[in-house]
Amino acid sequence: MKIYKVSDNTLYVKGVFTSVFNKNNSLLCLLVTTAFLQLQCSSKKTVTQTSSPVEIAEIYDASWLEATQGNIPVVISVPHGGGIKPTTIADRTCGARVADDNTALLAYNIRDAFKAQGQEPYLIVAQIARTKIDLNRDMEEATCGNADMYTTWKQYHTYIEAALSKAIAEYGYALYIDLHGQSHPIKRLELGYALSKTDLEQTSTSDLVIDSKSSIQNLVDMTKDQSTKDLLIGEHALGTFFETNGFPAVPSLQDPFPKADEPYFTGGYNTRRYTSLKYPKVFGLQIEANYKGVRDSEDNRIAFSKAFSKSVTQYLEALEQLIH
Ligand SMILES: [Zn+2]
Repeated sequence: MKIYKVSDNTLYVKGVFTSVFNKNNSLLCLLVTTAFLQLQCSSKKTVTQTSSPVEIAEIYDASWLEATQGNIPVVISVPHGGGIKPTTIADRTCGARVADDNTALLAYNIRDAFKAQGQEPYLIVAQIARTKIDLNRDMEEATCGNADMYTTWKQYHTYIEAALSKAIAEYGYALYIDLHGQSHPIKRLELGYALSKTDLEQTSTSDLVIDSKSSIQNLVDMTKDQSTKDLLIGEHALGTFFETNGFPAVPSLQDPFPKADEPYFTGGYNTRRYTSLKYPKVFGLQIEANYKGVRDSEDNRIAFSKAFSKSVTQYLEALEQLIH
């Protein structure tokens, strides 16, 4: 078996993880007690399976992923905006490979907009291209079975887990946003709450309870007297704030559900994973940003980012009155 070793785990932890989350590295290693973090926090390059050692293939370069610490309970991941295409890594042979153009740049503009109000979200940005790994899929589908890329997948999720853990430790909860870009005919933000178009239509037009399916199920549990419907299309819904601040969004009070013939992204692997009952203090959504007017130029990205930081701030201020 060919073994690649681009970055040493020990150096990696000291040089990158600490500089990113620089308060207490050992605490972070304790905070996220997953099997893969044990790999990252260890300097071992082999594991023992029964009596014969199994070598772990490692192709990983720290430049492929970027993580920065925040000071608000907002964790934003950006899996499809990367442009690094290492020639040593074969292109994926399964699934979608198209990039979400300018979403990494958009994430930086969003961070700048928060910074202008003295705040900073946690950011986890993939710099490696989706043609090499899809960081919004489970590990096998993300890599199309290419074990050389497992370390990258695990590190990406280690960063998200660490960010969520730190945010929860500081603030008691975390809003998780998986940021993407779409090119559907209707120019609006598609907010994916792990609910289908039918679910959204039924929720907005009836009293059908679907709390257990959505990516805000944990938020419903954290709040008093708030239904999924209130939190999706009520006056305090995130989509409602986006609309009020000049950026059309579905679902929202103004646009409660996509019509049956309108394409719409419901939210993918990351959104479902991090808002599941395994993360009871996390709620969130996938945001699929349209291109024109949002991602297409620096001026538009800056304008949208101001509305984004304002909308998320208004949303969290409203929620903090509701969370018990
Ligand atoms: Zn995407």
